[in-house]
Amino acid sequence: MNSSEINDYAAAIREAILAHEADIECLDREIGDGDHYINMKRGCEAIAGLADELSTLSSADALNKIGMKLLSTIGGASGPLFASFFMSMSKSLKVNDASSDTFSRLHIALAFETGVQAIMQRGKAQAGEKTMLDVLIPVATAFKQLAEQGQSSKDIATTLKNIASDGLESTRDMLATKGRASGLGERAIGHLDAGAKSCEVMIHTVCDLVLAGQ
Ligand code: ADP
Ligand code: MG
Repeated sequence: MNSSEINDYAAAIREAILAHEADIECLDREIGDGDHYINMKRGCEAIAGLADELSTLSSADALNKIGMKLLSTIGGASGPLFASFFMSMSKSLKVNDASSDTFSRLHIALAFETGVQAIMQRGKAQAGEKTMLDVLIPVATAFKQLAEQGQSSKDIATTLKNIASDGLESTRDMLATKGRASGLGERAIGHLDAGAKSCEVMIHTVCDLVLAGQ
């Protein structure tokens, strides 16, 4: 993974988020305040504007830069959470290998897991609270297991896509105990979580690029 690949992922994620405007917006309107799509779009545009600068950086530095940019551009609850994810992922890559941009699948899986743990700490949330973590935690767990087993990138990508979809679907019947939907009680049941949807879209996009051979 190098910063040119990170730019490719960011460009594909931006397109995918824009393509899912209707569903992401609608989900946050149903059980949130309706701004999640706008927040995601703002973050994606800000990262697109960094592309030239990112291409000069190591992947760890590029991820840190992305995190700092998201912290200053995305509002809402999700901004600091996504920022923590990228900054912690960056730190983990640096600890594992500061000198090279050649990371094993396991390095990347461990960095992803570190990023997800940072979201849990920052948002003081666990699995089962109807948030983005209901996609991210199972994906992080499976990513690490599959990488430890030595599975190929394409097999890992195929499995993670399914796990992300299942995680999103699992939010439908949950009560929300974190974020704006937590005031709704039983009324949140039957609705998917908007942040879980964005994360599913982003994970599918990156996995599709991996499956396409990038
Ligand atoms: P806001 O909730 O401030 O309007 P967004 O609409 O951008 O911010 O993001 C809402 C999403 O953030 C939710 O759908 C949920 O997935 C996620 N979220 C909110 N609070 C938390 C938390 N404490 N931990 C993890 N994710 C959270
Ligand atoms: Mg919102």
